[in-house]
Amino acid sequence: MNLAPWHAQEWQRLLARRAQDRLPHALLLSGAAGLGQRAFAERLVAAIVCERDDAPCGTCRACRLYANRVQRDPEETRPDGALAQPDGHPGHPDVRFVGYALNEKSSPKKMFTELVVEQIRELSDWLALPPQLGRAQVALIDPADGMNVAAANALLKTLEEPGERRHLILLTSTPARLPATIRSRCQRVEIHLPPAAQAHAWLAARGVDAKRAAAALRTAAGNPGIALELVQSGGLALHAEVEADLRDLLAGKAAAAQVANRWSKSEPERRLWFAAMQLQERARALTAPAELPKLSAGFDRLNRARECLRGPLRPELVILDALSALAA
Ligand SMILES: [Zn+2]
Repeated sequence: MNLAPWHAQEWQRLLARRAQDRLPHALLLSGAAGLGQRAFAERLVAAIVCERDDAPCGTCRACRLYANRVQRDPEETRPDGALAQPDGHPGHPDVRFVGYALNEKSSPKKMFTELVVEQIRELSDWLALPPQLGRAQVALIDPADGMNVAAANALLKTLEEPGERRHLILLTSTPARLPATIRSRCQRVEIHLPPAAQAHAWLAARGVDAKRAAAALRTAAGNPGIALELVQSGGLALHAEVEADLRDLLAGKAAAAQVANRWSKSEPERRLWFAAMQLQERARALTAPAELPKLSAGFDRLNRARECLRGPLRPELVILDALSALAA
């Protein structure tokens, strides 16, 4: 739960509000993937439940319970295959992590591909109970944009009247995908890209030399987390290739079938991941909202395609299906 230097300002602001007992009841935390917003949110939850003033102290009973994590069995995963709860569910009775969950009614058991209304109803029922350790009850919903329409609607009432000492933290890297009714009921905290010097220093502290750091940051549009991933995975050239393909596809200058054929032959999963990430960046930078549904649909289909690559279908067809959502 380490904070990055670019978290410092927002973090201090929230801690000051905690000291005055004025933390918002509903908070929408957003930032591009790679900026450590999950770590930020988890640390904020710790600060809310911690029993001391120097929160999170890491040693009080609340902090220790919170740090005690378990993964569900089977492990919960996001549609893209990543763990839904990267460090597991906390052992603190007054904290809930809500994310992609297992559909108990499916057979064979499968993960839900959205956050469903039953999860939100259960959360609301839980929030109506008194906190067990007394300080507060906190729920972290990640990714908040994974909620389907019914789930988002069910959350509205809880967001309006969360009750005393109840805190909801919603996480998203694409706030525009959340209904306006949800956004307007939350206080916004946005994790911004750090200044270049800070990003370089952060990469240098992780052993990346200046030249590679510069190239990776350029490719990652200044995002240090993604730059680090690119350096560690040697994905700079691949990333550039995917970017050019996406640009051509969206502009109608490339045929989806041709691109799918090429992508299926080398590192298809990573290409799909890069493409999804790039679409997310485009969605965040959008000035014309009319483009958003297309980018959102493309993002979903790319992520689903990554999952399908592990199935019996031919990779080429899986990729083609996802890319045809983007073709102009
Ligand atoms: Zn503590």
